Amino acid sequence: MLFSQVAAPPSVKKHLLKMAATHQVAHALLFAGVDGAAQLPLALAFAQYILCKNRNEDDSCNQCPSCLKINKLAHPDVHFVFPITPGKNTRVSDDALAAFRESVLHFPYLNAIDWGDALEAKQQQLAIAAEESLGIIKKLSYTSYEGHEKIMLIWLPEKMNTTAANKILKILEEPPNDTFFFLISNAGDTLLPTIISRTQFIKVALPSPETLSEVISSMCDVTSEAAMEAAHLAQNNPREAWLLTQTETAEPSQNLELFKQFMRACFKFDASKVIESIDVFDKLGRIKQQQFLLYSLHLIRNSLLFKHAPTAFSGTTEEKDFLQKFHLHVGLQNYERFSALFSEACYHIERNGNSKIIMMDLSFKINELLIKNKQA
Ligand SMILES: [Zn+2]
Repeated sequence: MLFSQVAAPPSVKKHLLKMAATHQVAHALLFAGVDGAAQLPLALAFAQYILCKNRNEDDSCNQCPSCLKINKLAHPDVHFVFPITPGKNTRVSDDALAAFRESVLHFPYLNAIDWGDALEAKQQQLAIAAEESLGIIKKLSYTSYEGHEKIMLIWLPEKMNTTAANKILKILEEPPNDTFFFLISNAGDTLLPTIISRTQFIKVALPSPETLSEVISSMCDVTSEAAMEAAHLAQNNPREAWLLTQTETAEPSQNLELFKQFMRACFKFDASKVIESIDVFDKLGRIKQQQFLLYSLHLIRNSLLFKHAPTAFSGTTEEKDFLQKFHLHVGLQNYERFSALFSEACYHIERNGNSKIIMMDLSFKINELLIKNKQA
């Protein structure tokens, strides 16, 4: 991953570049940001940069053998530790490495829930076991394959139990020469103080909409306008913006169908139809559920544009046909409330809420909103 492909503020990239240029990379860095921010891609870009054989002032070459290996997450001197669901055949990270590589390469902004879904596990079961610490110590005691630095990336150290954490404290404090620890956390403030005090903190803030849309349009094959809209809708959260662009390229028509069905059911409050659409929603799985809710936000915004700024409207013919009538229900008077309801539902789904309850609740509130609008 190149720095230019990472949706993080330029200031944090510059900070890392400066550390590398002045040979002042601390032996343990803690990349921390909110769920969905770019801490994992940024740590990967920095690992690539440190190991690149032909790096320039502001990025890796992306062509040398080292870069090519990191791009597949298969560099022999870059090790990964991440939470797994301990079982008979998976006791340490390496047992799930193939799935981890595939998931991260496919969606570098994934969070613990996405990863749990990839492992078909419940998020609560994910953990970094104490056993892992032995592997860390062993791997770092070998000399590096390429004869230079070794990097140990620990993704979601907050999933480490206290025994595991205590076991790696010592090596974190006195790592072997030319070894770097990158801890990558979505909940940095919940880590043990003894871990935090042994690391240099790298705060990964959300990017500006400009930075985010630039990255999204280059990585996700969408127009810069669509990427900018995704950035705004996602309130600059890279993970959500990424998911949103996937709905636009992947399955807009299914999402539109479900939205129509759900809105009609909510409007009349036809209980059996409401339950029918909730069942469809429930079967989608969490990622697609979020995509649907983000798509709904996109449609609600488009409804407003359709009415008030038709030149800015950019939708498919099917969307346009639907909005001919639907725009009567979403206007300046209720747009904010409408958006807030869908954002809230998305927030709860993302945090593992019960999808049927969330949608039932949403249907009541939308019904109320639509009725109020009709009376106005
Ligand atoms: Zn390179």
